[in-house]
Amino acid sequence: MIVVLKNNSNPEKVDNLVKWLESRNIRVHIFKGVFETVFGLIGDTSGIDIQLLEGLDVVKSVKRISEPFKNANRQFHPDDSVLNVSGVEVGGDFCVIAGPCSVESQEQIIDIAKKVKAAGATFLRGGAFKPRTSPYDFQGLQDVGISLLLEAKKQTGLPIVTEIMNANHIPMFEQVDIIQVGARNMQNFELLKELGRTNKTILLKRGLANTIKEFLMSAEYIMAGGNENIILCERGIRTFEQQTRNTLDISAVPVLKELSHLPVVVDPSHACGVARYVKPMSLAAAAAGAHGVMIEVHNDPTHALCDGAQSLTPEQFLDVKQAVDKVLSALRN
Ligand code: PEP
Ligand code: MN
Repeated sequence: MIVVLKNNSNPEKVDNLVKWLESRNIRVHIFKGVFETVFGLIGDTSGIDIQLLEGLDVVKSVKRISEPFKNANRQFHPDDSVLNVSGVEVGGDFCVIAGPCSVESQEQIIDIAKKVKAAGATFLRGGAFKPRTSPYDFQGLQDVGISLLLEAKKQTGLPIVTEIMNANHIPMFEQVDIIQVGARNMQNFELLKELGRTNKTILLKRGLANTIKEFLMSAEYIMAGGNENIILCERGIRTFEQQTRNTLDISAVPVLKELSHLPVVVDPSHACGVARYVKPMSLAAAAAGAHGVMIEVHNDPTHALCDGAQSLTPEQFLDVKQAVDKVLSALRN
């Protein structure tokens, strides 16, 4: 971090600033130029509040040189992170997470699980706790939903992905293979900290209106607690566009892969909100270098209790999976 001081600053105040920085384990290199004095701060500056520094009498400007996310940063971990999630690789092989928006009944989840498995899915998704905009909408089967997912896992062997909304529920997710943190909770820092204390794999979705840097800082919250098993999920961001539910930021894939070593997957279903756009966006995700996709699939989309409009039938899902495989093999050749 570079701190440029104002000309003719009070030497006592400058001295106090150096002492304060040193008390935070930062080494201060002082460069006295003809016109300006500049501090080069060396050490872990992630805990230094830029705004606070900028507000000081003696400070003219502050510039961060290294990113405040250390654990998630590719600079310190040049190789891609490859996670082994219940025997399935994420970050190496392309993974396909498929299943309904929400778990609705035993018949529904088992039927879908068998069909997506037959079509080549590597994980089964299904919401048990649903973050709905309206409190009057279906809120999910909650603990019963998790038991049904576990039953589907038992019958198909597919590891499961399901969303957590409350840190107090962590014990309920003991046997869940991947815990999803949804877009609305991307900055629920207390939840992120608690998940950082577990060793569960976390699928962290980008917030509705969050920047890539904010997204990586949320991953950093989990990693700072010691849990490095994180999958980043781009699921579209809110823009002025109304034709799609969100706008899929496909450029987030190469940007995230450049900045971070964590696996990156794309959720075209929530990004578009329209089933017929899921295939082209899945192909785009594969072509852009994503490590996987997460796709909503329902055995009866028109009667789905949540997100029917964006859900594919198992047949449509098979078609998407086969098309994605073609893109992947074209990229390999
Ligand atoms: C979901 O995956 O079911 C979900 C609610 O997604 P998001 O948090 O991205 O809206
Ligand atoms: Mn959904």
